[in-house]
Amino acid sequence: MSPVPTTPSQDGPYVGRFAPTPSGYLHFGSLIAALASYADARAADGRWLVRMEDLDPPRELPGAQTAILQTLERYGFEWDGPVVRQSERLEVYREALGDLLDRDLAYACRCSRKTLADYAGVYPGFCRELKLGREDAAIRLRVPDSAYRFIDRLQGAFAQNLAQEVGDFVIRRRDGLFAYQLAVVLDDAWQGVTDIVRGADLLDSTPRQLYLQELFDAPRPRYLHVPLIIQPDGHKLGKRYRSPPLEPHQASPLLVRALRALGQRPDPALAEAGPAEVLRWACQHWQAQAIPPTLTLAEAQLR
Ligand code: GLU
Repeated sequence: MSPVPTTPSQDGPYVGRFAPTPSGYLHFGSLIAALASYADARAADGRWLVRMEDLDPPRELPGAQTAILQTLERYGFEWDGPVVRQSERLEVYREALGDLLDRDLAYACRCSRKTLADYAGVYPGFCRELKLGREDAAIRLRVPDSAYRFIDRLQGAFAQNLAQEVGDFVIRRRDGLFAYQLAVVLDDAWQGVTDIVRGADLLDSTPRQLYLQELFDAPRPRYLHVPLIIQPDGHKLGKRYRSPPLEPHQASPLLVRALRALGQRPDPALAEAGPAEVLRWACQHWQAQAIPPTLTLAEAQLR
């Protein structure tokens, strides 16, 4: 069986998704990504899926999965179909990995973190030709010395030479856990996702994902990377920097604030309405082209 079942072509109905990682609770930056993907999907009469990216149990925050789904519900989001959990798809990833190894597109690597510390993130290929056994080894994907390009709906043209800027990258870690890059491509293809709307921190992961799509004969989705919210010290708003989890009782004002950050023009009075109504307004008035076409937005400058 091919690891990627046939998926509808991109000309078919819109399928979007929100794919949180349960290593922390949702914060204002996640709300921006959830809201943008939701409004963009619903404005196109599309489906909107939620996928739990729980590939890394040691980094999972106990209770975060439930809390994330409860927060989405309290904020008025309605997803289509059951929530897919990556932890339930390990067999698919294993099969795809075996396929890449069989085609000699991937290889085992035993380089330590220490060995690689001097190489500025670009893997120098030490294990490329060694034909090491797969046990107690990471698996890396061989990348071509060519540019992978796409046109982001918001950020415009983006290109990256995989060999020069990334190097052969890990698709299964040495501890046996599958890498995000592999799982995300297999899942988006399997779920028939046509449109990926997510934070701009993933813009430079996209060329790796385009390459994997090519290897699996998966259709290429459209992409829209929304600006990341940055804290005063320049850090990304995220779990690592202890941004506060979304308040359950602040749903409407925070949704309205997120809409403004996304360049939309909600009536301030909407903050007094229920979250379902704010979302209805968002989907009816959604203007993707009004989102500021930048990689970051300073939190302090948001109204
Ligand atoms: N799971 C990723 C995150 O929480 C998002 C993945 C994606 O949207 O492709 O940052």
